[in-house]
Amino acid sequence: MKYCRFLADGQPTYGRIEGNSVVARASSFEGLANGVPMSLALDGVELLAPVEPSKILCVGRNYRDHAAEMGNDVPKEPLLFLKPPSALLAPGGTIWKPAITQRLDFEGELGIVIGKRASGIGPDEDVRGYIRGYTIVNDVTMRDIQKADGQWTRGKGFDTSCPVGPLVTDEVDPLQGSITVETLLNGEVRQHGETGDFIFPIPELLRYITAVMTLEPGDLIPTGTPAGVGPMQSGDAVEVRIQGIGSLKNVIG
Ligand code: MG
Repeated sequence: MKYCRFLADGQPTYGRIEGNSVVARASSFEGLANGVPMSLALDGVELLAPVEPSKILCVGRNYRDHAAEMGNDVPKEPLLFLKPPSALLAPGGTIWKPAITQRLDFEGELGIVIGKRASGIGPDEDVRGYIRGYTIVNDVTMRDIQKADGQWTRGKGFDTSCPVGPLVTDEVDPLQGSITVETLLNGEVRQHGETGDFIFPIPELLRYITAVMTLEPGDLIPTGTPAGVGPMQSGDAVEVRIQGIGSLKNVIG
């Protein structure tokens, strides 16, 4: 199933997607299976972030070529950090460039959306049962602030630093085969990666996280970015494309 969240009569609403249309709506994800039938063109609705996470648990340096371009060694264990839910930004929304930064970077990433409470996932357990689907994330970063602070809360946790969407789908399976992640700045490809190149594959990430932290339905896990990160300026258009999911487009304010 593919789904989005959108505004219906001013109310945040979940919508099931078929083709290019929203065909059913409900007040919760769980309600979508028996949602109210409707028919609206997907490009005619006001999209919201498609997830309502209790936390956004990000993975840093999960591609060798990106670790290298930042001058870092390949990590021996996954590198985790949090963004607050207040960082979420809808598809099409304007990314804020805070006055304190001289260097605002894009980081296109595959996002895992959790479907079932997960704690202590076992070594032989199939992680698919905990995954609702996949989406697209831009892990927007004030690179100068990230480096100056030493930890990443301000540099990666500011308002609008987590554009996500436009939809969540379980119709792609990066556990089965590699999928392509690309970022375009003003229409020009700047990042091109394959999830098959992850240093830590998805099952390993979920086991590592749930060894210490309970994941809840709707939680979002951006899985790291490939090489090619770079700066954005006010007025730029940034787009993250993921094979089988779609395209997340935002502009810089
Ligand atoms: Mg990142």
